Amino acid sequence: MKPGYEFEKRFDRRRRIQACWKITFQFFTFCLSLYGLLLYIIKSYIMTDQSLIAVDRDKEDKNMDKSNDLSESVIFPKGEELPEFLSKYFTGKVWVSMLVGRDNEFNCPIGNVTFEPGCINNWHKHPGGQILLVTGGRGYYQEEGKPARELKPGDVVTIAPDVKHWHGAAHDSWFVHLSVETNANAGPAEWLEPVTDEEYLALKDNGNNNL
Ligand code: MN
Repeated sequence: MKPGYEFEKRFDRRRRIQACWKITFQFFTFCLSLYGLLLYIIKSYIMTDQSLIAVDRDKEDKNMDKSNDLSESVIFPKGEELPEFLSKYFTGKVWVSMLVGRDNEFNCPIGNVTFEPGCINNWHKHPGGQILLVTGGRGYYQEEGKPARELKPGDVVTIAPDVKHWHGAAHDSWFVHLSVETNANAGPAEWLEPVTDEEYLALKDNGNNNL
């Protein structure tokens, strides 16, 4: 027996063991990649429908947020902030865009009025009456001696000539209505005292507030 024979035999065995480990390692790596690929395929297959729904929901949420924030126009232009000689009869910011002007032909000016949250007007009367067509947000209308009425888009309020009333936004919501001034030639609105804080704050607890 040659002296190097034992050494060569041992060396061969070591190489075989190394090769064996190498194959095992490669096999496991292969299995892992396959498992990952399989997971990816399954995930993308299942996710297709659900993720689309999720995207739609996300869009819906964003639209909902947008619809609650009426700081921009709703249907009709928001217009300009009310001039000081009128804004002093409101508790906050109001914007008006006249859609139909004051003229003798129609005798019925129509304005788009936007109230910031918590903004209402003083008690007042219209000698020719007024019609409110609510287009956005949540607000109130109250006639003297009657409980306040909660208003939402689509509501119509007919206000007879010389009936003392106020209208405006809920505490936590923008409010937008069209103001139709009927028989406008009868004269401008007669502005009276502000609604008291007690009267307005009471609306939070009287069941009108659904939020
Ligand atoms: Mn009015």
